[in-house]
Amino acid sequence: MKEIFAIFGDPVSHSRSPLMHNCVFKNLNYPATYTRIHLKDGTKLKETFLKLGLSGANITVPHKETAYNACDEIRGFAQKVGVVNTIVNEDGKLIGYNTDADGFMFAIEEFGPIKNILILGAGGTAKALAARFLQDNLKVDVINRSEGRLSYFKELGCSTFTWDSFEVKKYDLVVNTTSAGLKDEELPAPKNIIDSILSKTSFIADAIYGKLTPFLKLAKDKNITYKDGADMLLGQGVLANELFVNYQLKKEDIKYSMKESFKL
Ligand code: NDP
Repeated sequence: MKEIFAIFGDPVSHSRSPLMHNCVFKNLNYPATYTRIHLKDGTKLKETFLKLGLSGANITVPHKETAYNACDEIRGFAQKVGVVNTIVNEDGKLIGYNTDADGFMFAIEEFGPIKNILILGAGGTAKALAARFLQDNLKVDVINRSEGRLSYFKELGCSTFTWDSFEVKKYDLVVNTTSAGLKDEELPAPKNIIDSILSKTSFIADAIYGKLTPFLKLAKDKNITYKDGADMLLGQGVLANELFVNYQLKKEDIKYSMKESFKL
């Protein structure tokens, strides 16, 4: 019988995960299929997962922190950040992982050595990236629209700012982890702040993929080297797929097949 995997999110229609994982399963003859589930109420995650008899799942915006609480056991980097983007069903128990952070490190390799980073946003993705950057002894600043979520980052050792308290510095890399630009044409912060940041930054990355967000468009107009979230998506997807198939497929084969799906 075919195993079933899914991605949970709200919105979820934009997600390329079904295409990516199905390409791997089909090309590598792994008996599984991957679908998407539009989940509005994050507290229904576990119930829905078990009712559908899923073997595993990915979790996207805005449920990654709720997913952490829905799991029976958390392994690896997810323990540190309290954010889960991948769940595997082990004998009816939900085991939570985070593959976003390592996926992002893969994505920025080509920028060369990076020492100080500004993260825009303070949600689940920001938490994972901040903790991962600090693990590599990078200097991390975080700016968010609202104050509430910043305390986590302060405790971690980041300098934190709201739009009102921010004073621009020179950064090697600025990463947009807000969902501004995902389904709208908004910038992650007011334009004067974004302009001042872009005037002092070497590289720009956006976690959003598949579109030139208003933030990336500004970077492009200013001739700053930028990338969207496609490589991050690939990186986290390969690591998640390895967990789904319990390492029965070769990583290089997964990566090759998943990359093929980007051409579709
Ligand atoms: P969360 O819902 O956990 O966090 C969203 C963050 O965005 C919060 O800090 C929120 O601020 C901020 N925000 C939302 N709307 C706006 C706005 N209009 N202006 C300014 N700030 C805003 O989301 P996630 O961390 O799970 O995901 C964030 C983004 O990253 C999504 O677009 C997702 O698609 C993308 N992503 C891409 C991946 C990839 O593989 N490429 C992997 C993971 C995520 P506040 O606290 O004030 O509400």
